Amino acid sequence: MRSLSFLALVFATGAAAQDAVVHAGRLYARMDQAPSERVTILIDDGRVREVRPGFVAPGETDLANDSVLVDWSKLTVLPGLIDCHVHLDSDRAGIEAQLEQLTLSPPAKAFDALMNGHKTLRAGFTTVRNLGDADGVTLALRDAISAGKVMGPRILDAGRSISATAGHMDSALGFRSDLREALNDDGNLCDGADACRQAVRLQVARGVDLIKFATTGGVNSRIGLGLGAQMFEDEARAIIETAHLYEKKVAVHAHGHDGINLALKLGADSIEHGTLLNDDGLKLFRESGAYYVPTLSTINGYLERLAANPDAYSPAVKKKIEWRISITGNALRRAHGAGVKIAFGTDAGVSLHGRNADEFELMVKHGMTAREALIAATINAADLLGLSHEIGTIEAGKSADLVALSGDPVEDLAVLKRVMAVIARGRVVAL
Ligand SMILES: [Zn+2]
Repeated sequence: MRSLSFLALVFATGAAAQDAVVHAGRLYARMDQAPSERVTILIDDGRVREVRPGFVAPGETDLANDSVLVDWSKLTVLPGLIDCHVHLDSDRAGIEAQLEQLTLSPPAKAFDALMNGHKTLRAGFTTVRNLGDADGVTLALRDAISAGKVMGPRILDAGRSISATAGHMDSALGFRSDLREALNDDGNLCDGADACRQAVRLQVARGVDLIKFATTGGVNSRIGLGLGAQMFEDEARAIIETAHLYEKKVAVHAHGHDGINLALKLGADSIEHGTLLNDDGLKLFRESGAYYVPTLSTINGYLERLAANPDAYSPAVKKKIEWRISITGNALRRAHGAGVKIAFGTDAGVSLHGRNADEFELMVKHGMTAREALIAATINAADLLGLSHEIGTIEAGKSADLVALSGDPVEDLAVLKRVMAVIARGRVVAL
């Protein structure tokens, strides 16, 4: 049996997972069930083999002879957390982000994405859904992590986000018009149904896991166009139908109720932000079974940046930010009250990477219980990602993704902000 610190070093460099025996003082195998006390989790080749009552020594199991004992006997252990809305390639914003578009090369962004992935993993988030990456760096990072070359969270990646010209994902907004082509160079803007089908196929060809598009304007788009619908029904239908043709789920950025309801009617799998959700939207959510991803953490990013620099955003964006801050939480309160399915997502990138757990506090502040918020970040998020067979609970056969905390998060959410230890796909993560 080798020491844990040695393993942390080896695994940080990407060596193969080693069998492990984890002693958990308290275990939430599923966030929708009561915890058990003093149990042992057997990890074999990166997967949970078995959960046994009591503390079992490595020698008393039939795991490999060099299997390691992970002593979490004084800690509370949960399934690895899942963030359904991140942007790993950056967490710069406002004017700074605009400058970055012209100054930072894709290779430089790749290092930022790697660093942000580490921050996310150390915060206990072992899986993320990356919704928007202009340069493909997170697609490459996804593959490097899954091949065990570098440590990071499991990534499901949407590639480049799709919108109409002048829509939320038009990267040329706020720039001179002669830069338009250079800033939108891979067909992510579509006007008309045929162009929208092609925009999806171009992302499918890059090897994306899902499709992200915008039916409405966005808070951060550098234009004062508001937050209502900016896409016609035939365009949105073409995107969703084409994505589903290739068995890719669709995440839809939408603030205004017109854009939310259009996407839900057409079969969107999740609505991101959903700020102006109305009664029709609640009904459509329940009928379609789509998930709502609230992304409340964005306001933390806005408030912190504006405190540091009141001119961090252009006047048009700042106005929308003030509105978003004033209205945050209303949609979650309504959705939660109406029994809409909710999955955890922060929009990290707008807020800072590694601070993903701040979202729990906001979810509880706006009407959810701690346990419901934790279900949203495990069982529900796994379902939205189509990975319920792999993640979201600690059960035999699933990926060994575990988080250890100093106390019980159902009683004290603050322990989620001070993660004590993480195992990702059977590997101990160096914190
Ligand atoms: Zn986002």
